[in-house]
Amino acid sequence: MEYANNILETIGNTPLVKLNKLTADLPCMVLAKYETFNPGNSVKDRMALQMIEDAEASGILKPGGTIIEGTSGNTGMGLALAAVVKGYKMICVISDKQSKEKVDILKAVGSEVHVCPTDVAPDDPRSYYSTARRLSTEIPNSWYVNQYDNPSNAKAHYLSTGPEIWKQTGGKVTHFVVGVGTGGTVSGVGKYLKEQNPNIKVWGIDTYGSVFKKYHETGIFDEKEIYPYVTEGIGEDILPKNVDFDIIDGFTKVTDKDAAVYTQRLAKEEGMFLGNSAGAAIKGLLQLKDHFSKDDVVVVLFHDHGSRYVGKMFNDDWMREKGYID
Ligand code: PMP
Repeated sequence: MEYANNILETIGNTPLVKLNKLTADLPCMVLAKYETFNPGNSVKDRMALQMIEDAEASGILKPGGTIIEGTSGNTGMGLALAAVVKGYKMICVISDKQSKEKVDILKAVGSEVHVCPTDVAPDDPRSYYSTARRLSTEIPNSWYVNQYDNPSNAKAHYLSTGPEIWKQTGGKVTHFVVGVGTGGTVSGVGKYLKEQNPNIKVWGIDTYGSVFKKYHETGIFDEKEIYPYVTEGIGEDILPKNVDFDIIDGFTKVTDKDAAVYTQRLAKEEGMFLGNSAGAAIKGLLQLKDHFSKDDVVVVLFHDHGSRYVGKMFNDDWMREKGYID
């Protein structure tokens, strides 16, 4: 018999899939690391399990404990699955700009969900960062995960995602392109790949309203760069410890409209039903066209599944309301 002992053992070893139509004008091959094949339908299952196992090993997370995290949904899903299998209670603190589907999904896997306002400063007591921290001081035997600064986040990608991409491309990968939020994916994968071949270029995809690109280029944390945006999962108004700016060769920013339109195009032109940050990632990759040449093998990572966006980027009324389609 061939089987996994529990659902957590099915995390990782996701396929690499060639893009054929959207990338037809590029000189190079583009391969997508297709993370929706994880059991929680996102790349975040990897780091969620790593963070929990490292917390168990260090003794911060004890049997019967409560796991608390501020999460846009995918990390919460990964943590919730692991909490169910391992017998912990899970509390997710989420911002109100996230899709309703994400909240419903977290509840479906047994998580308690607190919804907080988006348009407040990170240090405001109502923000989801502050609320998660406060709950962790109030609830006994609880552990605040803090994916932004938790080194197990990037470590998961250094230990699994990076080696998988290296092996699947037979060491031929020349560029890695990925959306940046907490920075765990770009930093962990980027570090591993550059250790194998220092010539590999790593590009981060950022969004308008986020501080990353300007900070990378100038070293200035410019508050004028911060304003509300629609794109989900990428960009930040803080500098998470998990973003290793030295590993990243450059950032390109994608507009909310382009990210939403390309999320639809991935589904309609490649049969890839994916989340909003995948739309941003592929559009960002196309913006980098001049950096690629004939023999390059460009790997782009797609973080999560389209089902979480049926009320938004896959809803034409919503798209029209936003002015993204006619
Ligand atoms: N896309 C989606 C849908 C995400 O949930 C996240 C995590 N915030 C990212 C991209 C960015 O990944 P990372 O946090 O590893 O930088």
